[in-house]
Amino acid sequence: MKAPARKVAIVTGGGSGIGRATALLLAEESIRLVVSDIAQEGGEETAHLIRALGREAIFVRTDVTSDADCAALVASTLAHYGRIDIAFNNAGIPGYPAFTTEYGLTNWQRVIDVNLTGVFNCMTHELAAMKQAGGSIVNTASIMGTRGSPGGSAYCAAKHGVIGLTKAAALEYGRNGIRINAVCPGYVETPMTVGEDSIFPTRKLQA
Ligand code: NAD
Repeated sequence: MKAPARKVAIVTGGGSGIGRATALLLAEESIRLVVSDIAQEGGEETAHLIRALGREAIFVRTDVTSDADCAALVASTLAHYGRIDIAFNNAGIPGYPAFTTEYGLTNWQRVIDVNLTGVFNCMTHELAAMKQAGGSIVNTASIMGTRGSPGGSAYCAAKHGVIGLTKAAALEYGRNGIRINAVCPGYVETPMTVGEDSIFPTRKLQA
């Protein structure tokens, strides 16, 4: 009997932290990976780590704020593997830690662009690719998508938005066999949380 084709997953923000850990875990389950990140070095390193395990991975550089990049990510995945079963829309930035009146429109827009519009950009192309055969999409929200955090107005707004987007799309595409969920991690020690410009040490603001 012919073995079923091994599944294919896209992981955005796969060059670091939660994305890298998830990509490695999926690879251990024999899922074929497309590691995507704006950071070439980290993304290529993750793909290399997966191949060193004897599993399959390619790296596709993607800026999730660019709709064209997200279209190219899905097109490259289909060109290389011929299918997409799983998409983990996980790329994100912490944003600038400041109270709302000091936040500034430029900082606000950047956080919304990466953390919310980036998920929308990825999803639109992934959904189109999954519409026939179904699949599973998981978006990374945050515990800050369910509650407020001082100094994190843009991040909280974006992550609340990811949850709303996930809920709406899940209702729209369940009939196509596409499951759409969000995860809301608490504190995970990654380059995002230990960085000097991280939103997470809001302790700095409260001190
Ligand atoms: P990380 O900084 O280690 O990884 C984030 C990755 O996203 C990086 O590799 C970065 O290059 C990539 N990225 C940033 N901007 C991008 C863009 N425009 N296009 C494509 N890739 C881009 O951080 P992490 O902690 O692993 O965070 C992963 C996700 O988890 C984020 O969405 C974050 O908001 C969320 N999250 C993290 C925590 C935590 O405590 N670490 C908690 C809740 C949610």
